[in-house]
Amino acid sequence: MIAKLLIANRGEIALRIHRAAKELGMATVAVHSTADADAMHVRLADESVCIGPAASKDSYLNMPAILSAAAITGADAIHPGIGFLAENARFAEMVEDHGLIFVGPSAEHILLMGDKLTAKEAATKLGIPIVPGTPEPVEEDAVALAFAEEVGYPVLVKAAGGGGGKGMKVVMTAEEMPESLSIARREAQTHFGNPAVYIEKYLPSPRHIEVQILADKFGNAVHLGERDCSLQRRHQKLLEEAPSPILTPEQRAELGAQCVNAVKELGYHGVGTFEFLYQDGQFYFIEMNTRLQVEHPVTEMITGIDLVRQQLLVAAGEKLPFKQKDIKFTGHAMECRLNAENPISFAPRPGKISDYHAPGGFGVRVDSALYNGYRVHSHYDSLVAKLIVHGNDRATCVDRLKRALGEFVILGIETTLPLFQQLLEDPDFLASNFDVKWLEGFVAELQEKKAA
Ligand code: ADP
Repeated sequence: MIAKLLIANRGEIALRIHRAAKELGMATVAVHSTADADAMHVRLADESVCIGPAASKDSYLNMPAILSAAAITGADAIHPGIGFLAENARFAEMVEDHGLIFVGPSAEHILLMGDKLTAKEAATKLGIPIVPGTPEPVEEDAVALAFAEEVGYPVLVKAAGGGGGKGMKVVMTAEEMPESLSIARREAQTHFGNPAVYIEKYLPSPRHIEVQILADKFGNAVHLGERDCSLQRRHQKLLEEAPSPILTPEQRAELGAQCVNAVKELGYHGVGTFEFLYQDGQFYFIEMNTRLQVEHPVTEMITGIDLVRQQLLVAAGEKLPFKQKDIKFTGHAMECRLNAENPISFAPRPGKISDYHAPGGFGVRVDSALYNGYRVHSHYDSLVAKLIVHGNDRATCVDRLKRALGEFVILGIETTLPLFQQLLEDPDFLASNFDVKWLEGFVAELQEKKAA
């Protein structure tokens, strides 16, 4: 068992992990930057250690400081959360080298899946269909042009080490290729320290569907169904739901079984997500995330399984307590990501919370580290709250989400809450008639109306 867990993260996810750890009887250690001294995860943790100044590179990404905090407090495990060091294979390795448990998969699997090209290669070997693309990083324009000629324009330039929708460029014509390649390479270098880019066929109208898996260290693995994350802006998810309204139970079972088979073959342990684009009845693997996802609560709501609890138990060396046949999907769940941004322009809106009231009632969950008087900083991610609701079916879920959004009070800053209130009235949203580009159009219309 893990006696003391260090949580190497901040915000709502640090709180989420703290809660699961406490329920398992673990003591918790919060680490924080100087800017986060009064954050909720610091207040609730049993112990806390300041690991550096506000800038993430000096605190939440500061591996020696985090490892020292673990040594000083006598923690025996580190949970990296989401973002920051969660997919850093070097960090996973360092944690284990220090005799601590890393709550996540092996460094080897993080490395394999952290590069989208090696991930796609692995998926192909495991019988999972991928989006057609160049198998190697593209170094010469001629290779990119030849590939685009073969599959037809438009194509997508993607960063091999990419994430968060960065380093991606749609290329409409051969003329645009050289410039798009060099912009994408520069962005990839800046964001990921790795300039490698590759070309993928651009699917014109896909849905984003991802499968949640959970595996222990003894070769047992299950899938927990899928999430539909097609509602995106700039390739970043804003509203996620489970199950996907457009999949049949047969498709779910088949896709899930493929992913379970893959993790067993790989000998992977921990939680993980296989991301797919879905179009015209076909699934195309795009990447695997070797960590918890922001949208994990919608899966928890329809399965009743606490993913963080299971993640901690698996890391501690426990066997999965259930088999695939024990996993039942009940009702429908949705999550809205409330960001500290203007709901029309999406400009950042950090500031001090002058009033806060979270909604409640049957089937309503709020994952947030906000409180009255808290200051939202500009140094970090703009996500300030996740509103998650569950209903017996999609329509009930939507009605409940509308009701809960109406109760939510966050004053002192602007948030994206009003955007969701408008989205939930839209006939195409209600009919589940959208693809990954649809929300951009919806937002553009709102912006035009506002400007008029
Ligand atoms: P990141 O790791 O940066 O999030 P992903 O590969 O997961 O990048 O893709 C993010 C989103 O970008 C997808 O959900 C989808 O909307 C879009 N996308 C990615 N690849 C393609 C593609 N080949 N064709 C069309 N859209 C794509």
